Parts: sequence; structure tokens; C-alpha cells
Amino acid sequence: MSDMFNAVVAEKDAEGVFSVGIKALSISDLPVDGVLVDIDYSTLNYKDGLAITNASPICQKFPMVCGIDLAGTVIESDSEHWVAGDKVLVNGYGLSERHWGAYSQKQRVNAKFLVRIPSQLSTEQAMAIGTAGYTAMLCVNAVRDHGTVPEDGPVLVTGSAGGVGSIAIMLLAKLGYSVTASTGRPETASYLKTLGASDIIAREELARKSKPLEKEIWAAVVDSVGSTTLGTALAQTKYNGVIAACGLAAGLDMPTTVLPFILRNIRLQGCDSVMAPMSLRERAWEDLASLLDTSLLSEVYRIEPMSHIKSLASAILRGEIKGRVVIDVNA
Ligand code: NDP
Repeated sequence: MSDMFNAVVAEKDAEGVFSVGIKALSISDLPVDGVLVDIDYSTLNYKDGLAITNASPICQKFPMVCGIDLAGTVIESDSEHWVAGDKVLVNGYGLSERHWGAYSQKQRVNAKFLVRIPSQLSTEQAMAIGTAGYTAMLCVNAVRDHGTVPEDGPVLVTGSAGGVGSIAIMLLAKLGYSVTASTGRPETASYLKTLGASDIIAREELARKSKPLEKEIWAAVVDSVGSTTLGTALAQTKYNGVIAACGLAAGLDMPTTVLPFILRNIRLQGCDSVMAPMSLRERAWEDLASLLDTSLLSEVYRIEPMSHIKSLASAILRGEIKGRVVIDVNA
């Protein structure tokens, strides 16, 4: 049997010109240390879009196998914690940046990066959730840990038809919160309501210059958009509220003042998925497995072959992807 397999490899030539495409690799090309994983699925995240198009310098060394999420089965392990046959996933940890990543039929990864896939989830479902869903769970846990309860009032989710937003809506609705979904795509309203949103507001209501303080509306906010959207959300958050901020789909600026913090006791909680400690990851994945309705999850994603990765990468940067895309690395 051939030990050759396909991977999406980003390269830079001697002049520094970037290129990316599918290449045949062999097991001997992979990093020497770590756990060898037979990958079933990866995903498409905003960061993957940036890496594949080179719109941001995500890959920090070349050649680099792209893809920040993987799910599959352990083939061979250099760690006592993992044995052949274990179902595992990796989110982030510098895959596609400093370490070879997930758009590959096989990969060798640091044993400390692996999370056991909860028994309720298949590898396909784990990747339907992926980094976007796991980040949504980190944000929702930040809201819960702040002490915000459903009786405190509505929770705003921005970028709601995207990956983080879609799964944040499902999780918050399951936990009994009343969710207001902000979207720039009114045609997604029925999808967002199916996921559990009670109300929909137009993106423009938030993506504007705001006053330092506006009418108090939100008990909490899950924001994947940043920029003026985050500024307006801060100005509209109720006394003692919390904003879980994880994204920059509209930009990395944050126009605000100190007033929401010093007059309304607002907490702005950053949420990072890439280097989150293992205890937070394991908690998030156990929560995802118990909270997410897997039949509803099937409304949120579609499967695409790895061969389509370049057009998908451009589409996610244009804000055209609804929900989640699972990448079948074997197609
Ligand atoms: P998606 O592209 O799936 O979703 C982003 C959504 O943001 C879009 O669907 C759209 O929602 C909205 N949006 C896009 N462009 C704009 C704009 N110019 N102004 C306002 N809204 C806009 O990406 P993901 O859900 O995968 O990721 C969302 C963000 O979170 C990204 O910035 C990503 O980098 C970040 N992220 C951060 C992580 C971390 O560890 N901190 C982990 C994962 C993601 P709609 O059409 O409904 O308006």
C-alpha cells in the first residue's frame, strides 16, 4: 500500500511569492515527533480563509500545511495518553501557523494538542462544530461565568449567520436565553430563528458611530465582528453586563470610551481559542456535546471536498458562507 496522501501546502519561492495547492506527501515528510492521526475531516474558518488567500500572514514558516481544525483517529502514538483507535480533534494551537495543519489526509501532531472527541459526537459532527463552535462555547461560558442569567434580559449575537454566531445562537437558546441576532443578510432570518433567535436586527443598527452611552438593552453580547459593531454593543449593554469578544470580521478597531466600564460596570471579556488552556477546551467540548442538538446542527453545515478550498477561502472572507463548512480531506 502506498504511503502517499494529499495535503494543502502553502509555499514561498526564492522571491517570496506565495502559492498554495494540493500536493502529494508521504509519511516521512511529516514532523518526526507526535501522534500520527488519520484525518477524516477539517473545517473552514475565517482564519483559514486568511491563510489560503495570504490576505494576512497566518503561515509563519514554509512549506506549511494549512488548516486549523482536525478530527480523526489515532494511528500511532508516542504518548501514553493516546492509543491507536482513539477518536481525537485539534483546534488551533498554532496549526497552519507554526505547526503543520489539518488540510491533509494524515498529520503528526503534538500529543498535548489533542482533545478526545466526546462519545456523543462523530468526527463529522466535531468538525461541524470546529473552532468556530468551540469559540462560541468559550464565549457562552464567559457569559455564564459572569453570572448573567436568562432573566437578566436579551443576549445579542453579532455576525450571527457566520460560524461562531450560528452556534452561539443555538447554545444560548438551549440555555434559555432570549437571543437577538444581528445580521447583514436579511435572507437568513428564518435560518437564524430555526437556530433559536427570538429577534433579528439589521447589521446597520450596530455598525455605525455610537454615542458613548445609549439605551441599555443587552444583558450580554457575543461579538465576532469588532469595530463599530462592538462599540455600539458596549454603549447598549445593561448595567453589570458582559461582552464576550472573539472576532474582527468588520475590523480590529474598537471605537469606545471608558464610560460603559466606569458608569455601567460592564465587563469586556476577550475569548481566545488558539492558546486556551486544556481545561477550558475539555470543558467546552463536554458542554458542546451535552448542549447541542445534533439534528439542528445538521442545519448549520455542509460538507465540501478539500479540492474546493481556494474558492471557499475567498468566499468566507467576502462574508458569503452561511453557518459552517466541513472539509472532507479524503475527497
Ligand atoms: P464567518 O465568516 O463564518 O462569520 C463572520 C460573520 O460576520 C459573517 O457571516 C457576517 O455575518 C459578519 N460579517 C462579515 N463581515 C462583516 C462586516 N464587514 N461588518 C459586519 N459584520 C460582518 O467567520 P467565523 O464565524 O468563523 O469567525 C468570526 C470571527 O471570529 C472572525 O473574525 C474570526 O477571525 C474570529 N474568530 C476568533 C477566534 C478566537 O480564538 N478569538 C476563533 C474563531 C473565530 P452576517 O452575514 O450574519 O452579518
